[in-house]
Amino acid sequence: MRVLLVEDDRMIGESLREALRQHGMAADWVRDGRAADAVLASERFDAVLLDLGLPERDGLQVLASLRARGDTTPVIVVTARDALADKVAGLDTGADDYLVKPFELDELLARLRALVRRQGGRASTVLEVGDLRLDPATREVSRGGRPVLLSAREFALLQALMERPGAIVSRAQLEDRLYGWGEELESNAISVYMHQLRRKLGDDLLHTVRGLGYYAGPAKDR
Ligand code: CA
Repeated sequence: MRVLLVEDDRMIGESLREALRQHGMAADWVRDGRAADAVLASERFDAVLLDLGLPERDGLQVLASLRARGDTTPVIVVTARDALADKVAGLDTGADDYLVKPFELDELLARLRALVRRQGGRASTVLEVGDLRLDPATREVSRGGRPVLLSAREFALLQALMERPGAIVSRAQLEDRLYGWGEELESNAISVYMHQLRRKLGDDLLHTVRGLGYYAGPAKDR
């Protein structure tokens, strides 16, 4: 999952970005409203965490512009403004959810998962491909009922493939999902993680399509 964090408070921004990364998400961070506008107009995110009190341009204006462009990226407003009128304004401007600071990290992560799940039109929280099972909430993976331990990056990669079984996901799309700006990225990182996943989970459900990308599911004849 790739998340954009829009937050002008350095301490909150740094700790939140670190926490998201530790939970296997690619987290990018901008600190003012104009920068948020620019990056949202040019890049795709799975979710946005949006502060309201921002330099340059208020969070509500950023949100209004995003929705005016027809962009449906899920947005959680994260702010210290706790007045009812502020919440109503945030939701009416197009926010999907609203979280008042200070908040518990676990609640934020659960809301993020719920939002992305709804966006994907899925009712079930658990992803299944054959007898391979991945639970985004508990971060547990099993194959044929046997638990398998994955690193945060392996988990994120597997989740990206299992969200759309059979669909080919390119290496660039996977790199976007796994890495934020400025994170060190070896050119063969994705194929190394794929290799590790196949070693741990077997090679019958994870496939490479040369020159195109990867998919999860039963092998297709080509
Ligand atoms: Ca602020």
